[in-house]
Amino acid sequence: MPLNSKHFLSEINKSFVNSIRKNLNKYDTDPKQPQRLKLQKCKYCYYINIKISLQAFTSFTCKNCKEEFLHHNSNVNKYCMKCAEELNICCHCGAEMD
Ligand SMILES: [Zn+2]
Ligand SMILES: [Zn+2]
Repeated sequence: MPLNSKHFLSEINKSFVNSIRKNLNKYDTDPKQPQRLKLQKCKYCYYINIKISLQAFTSFTCKNCKEEFLHHNSNVNKYCMKCAEELNICCHCGAEMD
């Protein structure tokens, strides 16, 4: 099947929709809550807001303590783990923890 055929493209769209549906389902059921809490991430960042990131260390400044930290990929957090835990917020977006 040629890669640019309309059938192939509609299959890609469908599989994308399916993966969104799966993620929404996980968002509702929170099946990985222990792992998620360990990473101090809200349900939205853990299940929905999954960005493709480069595997490269990237520095970021925590919005609370203003210290600089290294993150293991380019999809950096807004807060360091310590502050996120203290404030009970998602380290990635700063929202209240679910
Ligand atoms: Zn901090
Ligand atoms: Zn978040």
